[in-house]
Amino acid sequence: MEQPDLLTQFDQAAELIAASRWPLLICHVAPDGDAIGSLLGLTWILRALGKNVTPASQDGVPKNLRFLPGSQTVVSQAAGQADLVIAIDSSDLERLGTVYDQALLNNVPLLNIDHHITNLMFGSLNVVAPTATSAAEVVYDLAQSQGWPIPPEAAQSLLTGLVTDTRGFRTSNVSARTLEIAQRLMEAGGSLHAVTEGVLEQRSFDTVCLWGHALAAARLQDGIAWTAIPLTMRVPCNGVEQSDSGLANFLVAADEVEVAVVLVERKEGPIDVGFRSAGRVDVAQLALGLGGGGHPRAAGCTLNMSLPEAKALVLRATREALAALPSQP
Ligand code: 5GP
Ligand code: MN
Repeated sequence: MEQPDLLTQFDQAAELIAASRWPLLICHVAPDGDAIGSLLGLTWILRALGKNVTPASQDGVPKNLRFLPGSQTVVSQAAGQADLVIAIDSSDLERLGTVYDQALLNNVPLLNIDHHITNLMFGSLNVVAPTATSAAEVVYDLAQSQGWPIPPEAAQSLLTGLVTDTRGFRTSNVSARTLEIAQRLMEAGGSLHAVTEGVLEQRSFDTVCLWGHALAAARLQDGIAWTAIPLTMRVPCNGVEQSDSGLANFLVAADEVEVAVVLVERKEGPIDVGFRSAGRVDVAQLALGLGGGGHPRAAGCTLNMSLPEAKALVLRATREALAALPSQP
């Protein structure tokens, strides 16, 4: 179970929540299953406690997560009053996007609930558990520690976070306890099938088309596999937005690969970079060095430069990280 200081942080978080009537919950931009799952999971738990919760996500709810109860109540622009902000699954403040309005929320306490080892501890209270598989697991543990009921809608949402961030219980941090939590969430009304069938491997044919182009452009050199997706690559695929982290997971699974890198050009300008490691390189630290963050085997950053510049910078940093490894026996 949790370390004693985490239990103290749970109690402090519960005090902040008890004092709040209008909590505003915000997940990170370009949200994934854990961002939305933990956002809605905590939303339903706090609603059951009688709070007027506003769940917010700058980039809305991706189509394949709209089956989650309450997803239609997620706003992309915060309006109205809030007396507590809860950031979920976000390792830095910028990653909350424009929903977090600094000027408006300056005097409102900020509770930071996360599981990234690279979390910058930007909250007035930080509840960060890097050993947790998902932010959903942290929310579950918080609820358990306070004896808060988990309504069926919360169970489905939290199970979605747990299953997606572990890629279907396949990541190295999955333990017997992860499965136990999943069991409890299923007993509380969560459907495992709804997540494995509807979310994990589900993608549009346009995305399959884009994968085809991106994989054709992929290169491998000295254990680094990379591909870049310029805006023009999207044209023959009906302009589909690349938002599928499955591509980096697919590349890193190739035998010869130590680190996989996927660079994506966005319409608005910045370059999104996704890193995956086969295990030897700590890509959380690699991404942190480039202004991003993440987990030892899955991390990312956002770079404000051209695609060729980003590619050069990222590949140089990745080569350096590989060169710094102790040589294998
Ligand atoms: P993905 O490649 O699936 O988008 O992200 C993998 C991991 O890296 C996730 O834990 C995600 O939160 C983190 N990550 C991805 N992009 C960024 C970024 O721009 N900034 C930060 N801080 N973390 C990121
Ligand atoms: Mn997460």
